Amino acid sequence: MKKIGVLALQGAVREHVNMLEALGCQTVLVKYKEHLEGLDGLVLPGGESTTMRKLLNRYELLEPLRTLAQQGLPMFGTCAGLILLAKEVVDHDPHIAVMDVVVARNSYGRQVDSFEVDLNIAAIGDAIPAVFIRAPHIVSVGEGVEVLAEHDGKIVLARDGHLLGCSFHPELTTDLRIVEYFVTTMV
Ligand code: GLN
Repeated sequence: MKKIGVLALQGAVREHVNMLEALGCQTVLVKYKEHLEGLDGLVLPGGESTTMRKLLNRYELLEPLRTLAQQGLPMFGTCAGLILLAKEVVDHDPHIAVMDVVVARNSYGRQVDSFEVDLNIAAIGDAIPAVFIRAPHIVSVGEGVEVLAEHDGKIVLARDGHLLGCSFHPELTTDLRIVEYFVTTMV
């Protein structure tokens, strides 16, 4: 059974746990660095990246996460989780800074401008529902980064080898396919 950690400092943690368990994974709530031992993969949920960064510092998780990412642990960042992974964040210092993408925060207006769309993703499937909540987008990607989905001319899902990042929240829908893609093809 694959053992997948979910960074559990803040944000949409429970929804990811439910989805991973529905896909037959064992899950670990990651709050302290001891929880990172023996993981096959890690999900970084959505929430608020600036709050998560403070908590990453407080719980001394930033360096261990960066090291694990550099060692090749598969990681999937959704929304704020993508911001945590990005090597560059527009107008902001980066955080874990391992995924070769530039992201811009809050690219779709304010909280009230949250919306849902269906995405056709060639590598994964058609009509995949995606919930955007004060979502970031990927401004540009480095060489070797695969753009998997765009919406409205903006990159919203990309893969940099063992690192996957999306602008939206697949875990707030009942469609398992994006998380399943991570768990079955990357972990
Ligand atoms: N706007 C948030 C941030 O900058 C991300 C929003 C989300 O994760 N739904 O961190």
